[in-house]
Amino acid sequence: MVRKYDDFHKSVMVEEVLSYLITKKDGIYVDCTAGEGGHIKAILEYTNKMAKVIGVDVDYEVLEIAEQRLKDLSDNVVLIKSSYKDIDMVLRGLDIDKVDGFLMDLGVSTFQLKGENRGFSFAKDEPLDMRMDVQAKKDAAYIVNNYSQEDLRRIIFEYGEEKRFAHSISKSIVKNRPINTTQELVNAIRKGLPSSQVHERHRHFATKTFQALRIEVNQELKNIEETLAKFESFLKGGARVAVITFHSLEDRIVKNFFKNNERYNFLTPKPILPSQEEIKHNPRSRSAKLRVAEYKGV
Ligand code: SAH
Repeated sequence: MVRKYDDFHKSVMVEEVLSYLITKKDGIYVDCTAGEGGHIKAILEYTNKMAKVIGVDVDYEVLEIAEQRLKDLSDNVVLIKSSYKDIDMVLRGLDIDKVDGFLMDLGVSTFQLKGENRGFSFAKDEPLDMRMDVQAKKDAAYIVNNYSQEDLRRIIFEYGEEKRFAHSISKSIVKNRPINTTQELVNAIRKGLPSSQVHERHRHFATKTFQALRIEVNQELKNIEETLAKFESFLKGGARVAVITFHSLEDRIVKNFFKNNERYNFLTPKPILPSQEEIKHNPRSRSAKLRVAEYKGV
């Protein structure tokens, strides 16, 4: 695989993450979504390589990129292929009792969007896959071709927040089966929408349905909540959890989790947003929100 250095995924809100997450330079930090290793690299630079970072990602292809990129820092990093929902097993497997912070960055990595044949992007024509974990059983093609119209409608309505057209899109999907590629899906979505929507300039008309399927394929919302609940038993008093989300469904889960949990001080009842400067350099950051909570300890 040939990659240029500047092809790397641009990490979001790096300064903000560092200033909130790092309470102790020689601490142990867990990056639950290591991705291409951008935040991990920043943590190690910021702490003058005093920190140790455990990096977890469910996608072994991005982990290989992270491993390459972090090879000079390998004494301070352990990278593990796993879902964050098994973070407890990962840490126990490493004999780690307590850590100084957890980071989650819930976006899709640039590699997943731009890489070959991952099926995340409506801008390409590829098999309809969307699995972050390529060993997972259900891909997007399975869902689109086998779920009932009602289940598809519900997913598009809830996870895509496509309130007005979930019904007509799901109907069109069912009518246009089999659908095996991203462009076949884009066409089915197009046929389920009035032309005013198809020509909307603000956002591509397939965005919401693609988001919905990605969430369903990777069980994203369910996993977030389960994972947050697992952090507690590994946190030292005063240690922090920082979570970056990219859409309101995720943000709501994170916000409610910390708001209703008296064992945490919720440091950001109002989320931290990227600066105008960052949005200019990295448009993908525009929908990001950072929430941070501090564990009070027992
Ligand atoms: N912070 C990283 C980028 C992370 S992109 C950087 O700075 O480079 C988000 C990553 O989350 C993706 O690589 C994706 O594979 C990973 N991910 C998604 N669901 C996951 C899960 N259940 N467990 C672990 N990682 C997951």
